[in-house]
Amino acid sequence: MAIFRDTGPVADGIYLIDIGIWGIAKQMAIYLITSSDKIALIDTGTKHEVKTILKELNHLGINCVDYIIVTHSHIDHYGGIYALAKHFPKANICLPALAHNLQKEYTKKSKKMGLSNPIQMLKEGSIIKLDPHIILEVVETPGHIADHLSIFERKHRILFVGDACGSHHLGENFSRPTAYAPFFDHNAYLNSLLKFEKINPWGLAIASYGFATNIDAQKCIKAAINDYHTWKQTIIDAMHEKADEDYVADILLQKFGRSPGERLENRPDQWVKSILLGIARGFIYSLGLK
Ligand SMILES: [Zn+2]
Repeated sequence: MAIFRDTGPVADGIYLIDIGIWGIAKQMAIYLITSSDKIALIDTGTKHEVKTILKELNHLGINCVDYIIVTHSHIDHYGGIYALAKHFPKANICLPALAHNLQKEYTKKSKKMGLSNPIQMLKEGSIIKLDPHIILEVVETPGHIADHLSIFERKHRILFVGDACGSHHLGENFSRPTAYAPFFDHNAYLNSLLKFEKINPWGLAIASYGFATNIDAQKCIKAAINDYHTWKQTIIDAMHEKADEDYVADILLQKFGRSPGERLENRPDQWVKSILLGIARGFIYSLGLK
């Protein structure tokens, strides 16, 4: 089966790193793209995971990173950027052009820390050339949050989608929309999913969680589109029954259940519901149901 969930190579020169975020395994992956010349990291985790990242890079014999690319301005995707920039003073820091607050934060904090890494703003169509063959193209994919962008590696046709394509338990047929309030825009999210479907990548690199190829990559994108429609309709229907967010979260728990991880760790209902409440609110606010 072409599904990868462990730290290690997932394709020629491309690696998944399980950063063990919040102390939980297989919760968030970042990706490393190597080439005959330059090396890029996609996403950073929070500052707490930098140690794990550096350990893995060291393990792979990598002592220089040329590009640190942030997919979007959520702390679990960019929080490690300062420590990584310090460790790799020549690395280009690549931020979404639309992430204005993050840019302000980075400028202020990096100045305070005395960092002088080059900064690059990424937008639709931006190109990062790692070597003559490994070329990364930026695809803007808003919805999860307005500044979200994905990275398409042309040679292997691998799409690094961050949080823009839902969250998945690969191989266990479980997925959820990454539709968290207050950033979620339901129309933009669907359009980004349709963009992924059109690109039809060979490999799909998902932050949460894992790497899928061929038919499994297509299945993930299809599942994300299906989730969008079914969760949206369920939330609309539940709101019609009773315009109460808590009630909607209950319905979501009844209908879609717990993730395999939540079952395994025997999470209390309240814990699971707080996540579902975030998704319910994402749709409710974005759809103007409240
Ligand atoms: Zn996110």
